Amino acid sequence: MTDLGHWIDGARVAGISGRFADVYNPATGEAEARVPLADTEEMNRAIGIAAAAQPAWAATNPQKRARVMMAFVALLHRDMDKLAEALSREHGKTLPDARGDVIRGLECVEFCIGAPHLLKGEYTDAAGKGIDLYSMRQPLGVCGGITPFNFPAMMPLWMFAPALACGNAFILKPSERDPSVPLMLAELIEEAGLPKGVLQVVNGDKQAVDALINHPVVQSIGFVGSTPIAEYVYARSAATGKRVQCFGGAKNHMVVMPDADMDQAADALVGAGYGAAGERCMAISVAVPVGDDTADRLIDKLVPRIEKLKVGPYTAGDDVDYGPVVTAAAKANILRLVESGVAQGAKLVVDGRDFSLQGYEGGFFVGPHLFDHVTPDMDIYRTEIFGPVLSTVRAGSYEEALGLVLGHEYGNGTAIFTRDGDTARDFAHRVNIGMVGVNVPIPVPLAYHTFGGWKKSAFGDLNQHGPDSFRFYTRAKTVTARWPSGIREGGEFNFKAVD
Ligand code: NAD
Repeated sequence: MTDLGHWIDGARVAGISGRFADVYNPATGEAEARVPLADTEEMNRAIGIAAAAQPAWAATNPQKRARVMMAFVALLHRDMDKLAEALSREHGKTLPDARGDVIRGLECVEFCIGAPHLLKGEYTDAAGKGIDLYSMRQPLGVCGGITPFNFPAMMPLWMFAPALACGNAFILKPSERDPSVPLMLAELIEEAGLPKGVLQVVNGDKQAVDALINHPVVQSIGFVGSTPIAEYVYARSAATGKRVQCFGGAKNHMVVMPDADMDQAADALVGAGYGAAGERCMAISVAVPVGDDTADRLIDKLVPRIEKLKVGPYTAGDDVDYGPVVTAAAKANILRLVESGVAQGAKLVVDGRDFSLQGYEGGFFVGPHLFDHVTPDMDIYRTEIFGPVLSTVRAGSYEEALGLVLGHEYGNGTAIFTRDGDTARDFAHRVNIGMVGVNVPIPVPLAYHTFGGWKKSAFGDLNQHGPDSFRFYTRAKTVTARWPSGIREGGEFNFKAVD
């Protein structure tokens, strides 16, 4: 079985811990490769190499660092098909979805080409007699990042591209479930001109994560994954004095007002609820139609659309709407939650429990499910299911619908579908959610804005990508300089001389 190894000091190296995890093809359910799980010694070695490589990279001027990003973008385009295939094979998502994963990451690299502009400081001339003030942003040193399985290209790129553009070295600990693409990205950016040791990929599980977050040389930690682990990584990294941003789970609601275009709302819900098998932190998992009449009309539109969804392996091409979920454990957890919904009294309008695909009986496929009459006390409402399961909670009024969104512990994304500008504006203003869509079901901001949730979906002050990423990966320093002579005799700015 292929041993994927780590990317340390500019080379693929085998693990030395003796511990491994199997990497599956979720469509067949077969293990196709194995990934080494680093121990503390291996992680410490990578951190030492990063610390040695970082000063020279920080001293490379921002324009040269930006040129590496430019070359990297070209290589990502060159290898797009290869990356997408490797991604689909380990994750299970369709090829168009896998390309989207790479492209949303690539857009962040494009943003980082602006590093020379984004790192420009501020200057106040003559703040007092002979006194000038200037601020600069300097890299942190060695930064660490821990990423989830569901966006194995986008999430690593959102972290390491801005970190490197700012002059840091970076240690990436990707998900052990789909590590091939992160390794390929590290190889590609070195082909683009990044010096060896500046970006390293160390594979592993909790042991590797703990070694990274406990190491005193590591200055910052970025984490994306489930909320319990985000809380743990946040607390532990902050306790060791690091700068830290952790992004967690989600339960995203879409409010459907009576005046919404019901076809548009139903199409949006099917794409946002079932795309990528629901394994997106910005997936819509709760539909909130306002009024029973709206709910009935929405369910009538949803059912035939959901029943038409094609579930299959990525190799079936464009004919497939979504693929398998990532592991057998993920599938079992989704089906367990579906059973709990039935047991707790929700109405299962579309039942995907018996789904199976001929020729792929061992694959981790889950049929689409639609629940109606879900109530806020049910497990399927409170828990992030992370699968192709959409719950409908009927609200009696707009205020009740808004109250549901406000009251849920997660705060990543939300959407409202309406034709009424006043309602949309009120919703966007009052919700306690990080990313809001108005007639847009998955409002993932573009790379030049920032991405991040509220409440239990994010811990830390700054968001991912956009201007926040350049603030996260640099420290500000402000210099106040006074030259004793002040303005020399006769040296005042002379407007007449200019004329
Ligand atoms: P996960 O929490 O299981 O794993 C995330 C990372 O943490 C992986 O690298 C994993 O190796 C590591 N990890 C796992 N257990 C650990 C432990 N006990 N101690 C230390 N590290 C540990 O998450 P996942 O299943 O890979 O990803 C899905 C989750 O990520 C969902 O909850 C989803 O909502 C969330 N997510 C959030 C965002 C966001 O921006 N908010 C984006 C993508 C995914």
